[in-house]
Amino acid sequence: MRIEENYSLRGYNTFRLAVKGRWFMEYESEEELVRILRDEFFQETRSLHIGSGSNLLFLNDFNGIILHSAIKGITVVGETDDSVVLRVGAGEVWDDVVDYAVSRGWSGIENLSLIPGESGAAAVQNIGAYGVEIKDVIETVEAYNRLTFEKQAFSNASCGYRYRSSFFKDERNDPYVITYIHLRLSKTPRYTLHYGNLKALAAACSPLTLPDIRRIIIDIRRQKLPDPAQTGNAGSFFTNPIVPSAHYEALKKTYPAIPSYPMDGDRVKIPAGWLIEQCGLKGKTYGQVGIYDKQALVLVNLGEATGDEIALVAERIRTAVAERFGIKLMPEVHYVES
Ligand SMILES: Cc1cc2nc3c(=O)[nH]c(=O)nc-3n(C[C@H](O)[C@H](O)[C@H](O)COP(=O)(O)OP(=O)(O)OC[C@H]3O[C@@H](n4cnc5c(N)ncnc54)[C@H](O)[C@@H]3O)c2cc1C
Repeated sequence: MRIEENYSLRGYNTFRLAVKGRWFMEYESEEELVRILRDEFFQETRSLHIGSGSNLLFLNDFNGIILHSAIKGITVVGETDDSVVLRVGAGEVWDDVVDYAVSRGWSGIENLSLIPGESGAAAVQNIGAYGVEIKDVIETVEAYNRLTFEKQAFSNASCGYRYRSSFFKDERNDPYVITYIHLRLSKTPRYTLHYGNLKALAAACSPLTLPDIRRIIIDIRRQKLPDPAQTGNAGSFFTNPIVPSAHYEALKKTYPAIPSYPMDGDRVKIPAGWLIEQCGLKGKTYGQVGIYDKQALVLVNLGEATGDEIALVAERIRTAVAERFGIKLMPEVHYVES
């Protein structure tokens, strides 16, 4: 167990903001976690569990306890003719898990290559990319209730998965700390290639292999998104809005080229990046904050931006999109206040 005071969180948020946590506690096992949860000081102090902070915007220093999992390990805990089940420690870097699966020929998560962050958070966020979401392979999530100290195993159905959200993301269910996730992967290749230009790029590989798909996805992502190690960012700042079909049809009259993805229940998903771009904001900079020139959905820290400054630019974008399209963008990034 590691306990630090006035700890710099610059390495624990991909915006690379110079913020501090009053306390930082890192545990390596479930036993250490339970010791922290039972501690009186912990119970009396405000706390926030983080992964690698790739979906967080710290508005200022965090005047409480930052909790972090260093629970590692990937083990096979189930196997059939057709599939394997992996049990993965919440503190494992997500992309290492993808690499592990791909190099063994197990498919299901290759489209989620290079998504930053840790495995516990991936299950909270229901990470998704290129037509795949982690909910498609989650079998079970092991979590501790920080109020009762009891361990609970959540089935996929009880994780309440929705677009970029889950039961665990709802603040009312905040007491849960995820310690392990179980993923069911296919031993026979089952590729998901329908999204964007994936199929066209994959067609150039014959025969197509899992490592090919991982490489193609990594190449696309590197071209489109800034590397947080070089330029602070948190990926897509807003979720793609889902609007009633009637709203979309009305917009289409003025903007015939408006892109869309049909959803169930007579609704349509519209790419938020396109809406922002139409407002003429792509590539704009405001002080130390930029709207990324290759993808308007990404806000970047050009150096020493503060969380407040980034939040102000986000607000400016929301206002512009609301005025032009009548659509309220919602941040995908979680704002953390002191
Ligand atoms: C360049 C870039 C590209 C990105 N691309 C994508 C993408 O394609 N698709 C996508 O879905 N996301 C994407 N993201 C967002 C981000 O990578 C994911 O949301 C990721 O899952 C966050 O992981 P993290 O470890 O950084 O979690 P954090 O940001 O630290 O935390 C996220 C949430 O999980 C909670 N949490 C963390 N660990 C635990 C735990 N053990 N138990 C309980 N709660 C916990 C936190 O309290 C917080 O609410 C991108 C981000 C960046 C910077």
